[in-house]
Amino acid sequence: MTHKYEALLQDLKQRLFEIYDLNGIASLLHWDQTTYMPPAATQARARHISLISRLAHERLVDPEIGKLLDALRPYEESLPYDHDDAALIRVTRKDYERATRVPSSFLAEFLAHQARTYDVWTKARPANDFSMVAPYLEKTLEYSRQLANFFPGYEHIADPLIDFSDEGMKVSILRPLFAQLREALVPLVKAISAKTPPDDRFLYRYYPEPDQLRFGLDVIRAFGFDFERGRQDKTHHPFMIRLSLYDVRITTRVKEHDLSEAMFSTFHESGHGMYEQGINPDYEGTPLAGGTSSGVHESQSRTWENYVGRSRPFWEHFFPKLQSIFPEQLADVDVEAFYRAVNKVQPSLIRTDADEVTYNLHVIIRFELELALLEGTLSVRELPDAWRAKYREYLGVEPPDDKDGVLQDVHWYGGHIGGAFQGYTLGNIIAAQFFEKALEEHPEIPDEIRQGRFDTLHGWLREQVYQHGRKYTPRELIRRVTGQDLTLEPYLRYLRRKYGELYQLDLDNE
Ligand code: ZN
Repeated sequence: MTHKYEALLQDLKQRLFEIYDLNGIASLLHWDQTTYMPPAATQARARHISLISRLAHERLVDPEIGKLLDALRPYEESLPYDHDDAALIRVTRKDYERATRVPSSFLAEFLAHQARTYDVWTKARPANDFSMVAPYLEKTLEYSRQLANFFPGYEHIADPLIDFSDEGMKVSILRPLFAQLREALVPLVKAISAKTPPDDRFLYRYYPEPDQLRFGLDVIRAFGFDFERGRQDKTHHPFMIRLSLYDVRITTRVKEHDLSEAMFSTFHESGHGMYEQGINPDYEGTPLAGGTSSGVHESQSRTWENYVGRSRPFWEHFFPKLQSIFPEQLADVDVEAFYRAVNKVQPSLIRTDADEVTYNLHVIIRFELELALLEGTLSVRELPDAWRAKYREYLGVEPPDDKDGVLQDVHWYGGHIGGAFQGYTLGNIIAAQFFEKALEEHPEIPDEIRQGRFDTLHGWLREQVYQHGRKYTPRELIRRVTGQDLTLEPYLRYLRRKYGELYQLDLDNE
């Protein structure tokens, strides 16, 4: 590298480090807001966060960054695609272009609208009154279309919105993929619903909070979550947040009459956390330090929550430990009954409570409705009825009210319409592709899990996925790891094998 490029790159990196640190500070404020902050601090905290976020945004859209990126282009083009500097320049350019295309006046207006809409939604949901928030949602739809139109040249108006969180994924890829998944899931759910469900009532006995938390922490320590660089605290809605690669925090919530709640949310968030903790430390302070997409991120949380945490080998090891913590509550339960209970499939109304099989149908419903709204084939006024119709058709259940129907998720009411949901189902699909590949290369993984050992799986994921951060787009990463593009087959194989056995179904396998 010549001196000229070295100096330019240094300049760029210094600027990026400040942006990264400002974002880290905003994350700390946000983490505190949702964990320990006293309630009266709400308004002041909103000011703090918006000030820091504005400073970070101003630094990112600084024309000097654009000039540096232009000047570095010849250097970038002289490097192999997977060189770290090339990736740094490429990903920074993507972020810069995305940030500069949206006028700050529009952004400020839309964010203010989102804050008002969120506020109305927090009242409309308990009041079960969609009409309160409908005019706001109409405006949100309008803003969402405008936002997409700052990125002209798209095939489908949802594509730019999807690209924000799942780069390179498009309606032309996702619509047929999700339709294929829906066509496989609807009959599977019907077949399962015709069977006697396992008895899971013992999961709702009294399980004291400290013991629940202790068990969850023991498990994720065994998974390989690094407590030197992370911690877990309590909150209302569990999440993972990175302040730096040396401080990755997760949160959970505990229900003393629902053993699954804290346990599986802890496994889930630890997967997000281990992804961030596993990123190449050289990327600290750059846009490469982060998960590459919401779908790939979700694939990692689902791997540890479901592929590991709801597997039979896992419970063969951990059930005796759980039983020793809760000897009375689980006295009449054996490992097989426990395994069946935590894999109970039951069509329900609430996405976040859904099991592994029905979960994707909740997501597909939202994805299809988002597209129809953006396309203009569905109006906001028609949305509640369309929601009920799809629940009836895909899941065989119908919400009795809008509170547990169209008003249940915050996404549309606190953000934009389009691109908000696909990542959850992409995560399940990608997790299956990665996990199948890991088992192919390391057939010993299930036996290790049976012994409470996770280092082979964790090491493989770190090597194949975590370390790269945002260096590769999701499609590039999937291709590198599996040698294939995004495909549904491993996921369908996994579901049919697992639930075919659990529910003794007669499935035509493939
Ligand atoms: Zn997640």
